[in-house]
Amino acid sequence: MTHLSIRYAVLGLAAITLATVSTGCARPQRPVVAQRLDRRGDEIMVCGQLFHTGTPVVLWTDPGGYDAYRVERRFVPPDQAAWNVSSASLETPNRYGIRDVADPALFEHVRGGGWTLHQLQGVVNQFVIHYDACGTSQRCFRVLHDMRGLSVHFMLDVDGTIYQTLDLKERAWHATKANSRSIGIEIANIGAYPPGDATLDRWYTHDAIGPRMTIPGGGDGGVRTPGFVARPARSLPVRGIVQGQTLEMCDLTDAQYQALIQLTAALTEIFPLLACDYPRDEQGRLITRVLNDDEWNGYAGLLGHFHVQQNKVDPGPAFDWDRVIEGARELRAGRSRQSARPRWGGRAQGVLCPPAIDRPGRTGEEGVWAVSTLPSRRQAATAEGPRARPPPGWSSARDAGLGPLCGARWACCRRGARRSRRGSAGVGCRCRYVARTQAVPTGRPARTEPPQAAPRPRGRQGSLTNRP
Ligand SMILES: [Zn+2]
Repeated sequence: MTHLSIRYAVLGLAAITLATVSTGCARPQRPVVAQRLDRRGDEIMVCGQLFHTGTPVVLWTDPGGYDAYRVERRFVPPDQAAWNVSSASLETPNRYGIRDVADPALFEHVRGGGWTLHQLQGVVNQFVIHYDACGTSQRCFRVLHDMRGLSVHFMLDVDGTIYQTLDLKERAWHATKANSRSIGIEIANIGAYPPGDATLDRWYTHDAIGPRMTIPGGGDGGVRTPGFVARPARSLPVRGIVQGQTLEMCDLTDAQYQALIQLTAALTEIFPLLACDYPRDEQGRLITRVLNDDEWNGYAGLLGHFHVQQNKVDPGPAFDWDRVIEGARELRAGRSRQSARPRWGGRAQGVLCPPAIDRPGRTGEEGVWAVSTLPSRRQAATAEGPRARPPPGWSSARDAGLGPLCGARWACCRRGARRSRRGSAGVGCRCRYVARTQAVPTGRPARTEPPQAAPRPRGRQGSLTNRP
């Protein structure tokens, strides 16, 4: 880790803590007309609000950024860039749409552009990981925006720079049926290929230190860090099975993993329904195939493009899911430790769901459910000690009939609840404690089911590969 990235990590941790925990302490100051607000350069934008990530982020409004709101093409001569010129090859001028929601009132509210953060928190529950097969973010944007008429919220370049191209309120076109409920990221990487394919040999050479990626297209490829040499985090290509195919792939760079960990920690903190986990089988191992409809509908958390679509294999066999998830959990656990709030203060430790009234077919009186996550394996291992006692007002998932393994993911809990009634534990679930933060009206039987997962997206857009 470079000195700069350590500094960013420390700054980010402090910033996330300050920004999301200690609100309410400072007395608001009267704004000074024309006063400029400082940015640190690590902020992402969600519903027009800025959140720190602790790692360099270039917004679409920044110099050198990539703007998916524009209708003209970015990397062609200016006289060929306008929409009326590119309309022969692109279906619509826009590369994004409105997140589809089942509630007509909510849709009417947001179609003009205005999502509240609270509304968006009730809809976003998946973070789809892609590799771009382009090698650099600049090439990725060229392919997505100029050639295919698609978009993605984030691009992660080989040097760890994150580019945000759209506000997260937008429905980026990157993963077909997942677009309405997800955030997407394209990670710069050449991709995965069958053993014996010459592509990796073509793009990865060796010098005295080890393997290094050749920048596709030559030059610096638009990589922000001058002279950056992209080296895979693991020196040998990683072989693995995705969708039943054996594939080989060179790993991401350490800078990419570090940035992705920071971003994952921030997103899972900002979006309470987005579990910091990946799709697991009954033994807790990564599922390496497309999820079936039930699994996909019920899943909330990080997932690969291949979990969404049968015809995709990204982010490939080299993508180190545990490194990302464990890293993000450790970061969030550190943030919790630094918090001035009580350890089991409910909101400080737990993950809160938005009020049920945000969900179609449910009313406010059904209350708000909350699930407490265990942010790291180490902490989970010690959970049978004194910490295993539920915080005040909470009960263990087992006591609530949700199964001993029932997880922080809403769908997991729902599935766990169903399964526990049949006498078996939830699958791949990780939470220990559940609580409802509003009392059940008198005379009403306590429910053991958490609220439904976010509304299932219904296509309202076109049908290009990643767009419906
Ligand atoms: Zn993809």
